[in-house]
Amino acid sequence: MERELILVRYGEVFLKGLNRPYFMRALVKNVKKAVAADGAEVWLHDGRIMVAGFTDAEACAARVCKVFGVHSVCPAVEMEKDSFEAIAARAAALCAGLSGSFKVTARRSDKRYPMESPEINARIGGAVLSANPALKVDLHHPEHVLNVEIRDKAYLYVRVLPAVGGMPTGTGGRAALLLSGGIDSPVAGWMIAKRGVQVMGVHFHSYPYTSDRAKEKVLDLARIVGGYCGGMKVFVVPFTHIQMEIHEKCPEDYTTLIMRRYMMRIAERIGRRNGAQALITGESVGQVASQTMEALGVTDAVVDLPVFRPVIGFDKAEIIDLARKIGTLETSELPFEDCCTVFTPKHPATHPKMEKAVEGENALDSEALIREAIDGTEVVIV
Ligand code: ATP
Ligand code: MG
Repeated sequence: MERELILVRYGEVFLKGLNRPYFMRALVKNVKKAVAADGAEVWLHDGRIMVAGFTDAEACAARVCKVFGVHSVCPAVEMEKDSFEAIAARAAALCAGLSGSFKVTARRSDKRYPMESPEINARIGGAVLSANPALKVDLHHPEHVLNVEIRDKAYLYVRVLPAVGGMPTGTGGRAALLLSGGIDSPVAGWMIAKRGVQVMGVHFHSYPYTSDRAKEKVLDLARIVGGYCGGMKVFVVPFTHIQMEIHEKCPEDYTTLIMRRYMMRIAERIGRRNGAQALITGESVGQVASQTMEALGVTDAVVDLPVFRPVIGFDKAEIIDLARKIGTLETSELPFEDCCTVFTPKHPATHPKMEKAVEGENALDSEALIREAIDGTEVVIV
């Protein structure tokens, strides 16, 4: 009996000492969820996560590669181990299309198996070479490694697909991501989600200054990031009234900054009600006027939750590269207006003073405005 399966290798999870079973259970659950559509089964066996029963191995492997906590993915063949000739023949068949240098790496966890690893290496290597003259052995820098594992059964694989890494979703608490339609915030959310944090989105929209399509774009971004971490809950907050009030009553050079402070306050309240232990933004030092050191300090001052800014030290080009890699770039680049661009002042303060921001806000009925925005919030699960 032979079958195709996928061996899942995990990264840091194995370092987790006594908590390891907890991390493993979360990882298995998340892999199950990711391959449910393939009709595949997932189980833990001999310290390994295995996937089988899929119809399309490539598509299924690609999905497993996106699960946080997975380090790499090996499409493999599982077979009986009683006939060494059969294993050698199957190994040769697996290497039929390869050329260049290779080596065999055998591992034998079944110590009763009547052959030791060096002998397995030599004999399977010989079988592969005589079947495929386009290959030559290189023990130090081979282009291909044929792995042969002798456990309860024999497992053979050549391909090791790099996966996303990180920690299993749900093992790292929760955080609220201030999600705009731009390039930076989806990347920031993805980076924190990668560490096992369940991320919820908070989006501020300024209907009718911003369109429904602008909102749809943000939900599409949430869908893409959520694709890595079992979906995302997005809170869509009506922000127009607050922006109008700021625009009318606050000093023009402070409007962006004051607006950012209201976003933080509202995101913190929504986040806390939903179990968030931190806020996430896509800010990067010096990128725009509201992201100078002074401005970041003045923005931070209105919230108590820790604020994570994972792209803080990235250049725009680096953020764009990551956005491309995770698949959000194309959507972020669609040309819809954002609430920030609608009311942008000509000369925003780059060295703002806390007192002046507070003074500007004194002209507003903050509590009523915040409540109104939260009451009007729509919840969308993507
Ligand atoms: P991004 O590229 O993510 O849109 P940005 O370059 O537009 O960011 P800013 O407008 O200064 O930069 O926004 C800084 C951060 O504030 C964003 O990364 C995001 O976390 C948050 N933010 C901005 N606009 C919104 C919005 N409409 N809804 C929710 N969060 C927002
Ligand atoms: Mg930005």
